[in-house]
Amino acid sequence: MAEDRRSDEYWTWRRAVVKRDCHKCQWPGCRRRTKLQVHHIVPWSASASLRYVVGNGICLCIPHHRSIKNKEAMYAEMFRDIILKQKLKPKVKPRPKK
Ligand SMILES: [Zn+2]
Repeated sequence: MAEDRRSDEYWTWRRAVVKRDCHKCQWPGCRRRTKLQVHHIVPWSASASLRYVVGNGICLCIPHHRSIKNKEAMYAEMFRDIILKQKLKPKVKPRPKK
């Protein structure tokens, strides 16, 4: 099972999440840029179809990732909210079409 996580698909997913999160921990007020892990909002074991969905991943530093261990479900809503708010604040504004 664990070997699955080392697949190309996994790394592609992980890179996409880290990029979207600007290489920062997304925990409110944290913004750490080192020791990052990508957390599955809906757990890996709970849904095969969401494993590689970018919207199901969020960047957390190791201390914060550890802090939610066995409490993942409690934080799922908060993480979804954080990702949603990111989308509302685009880093690069699309140019208006002429
Ligand atoms: Zn953090």
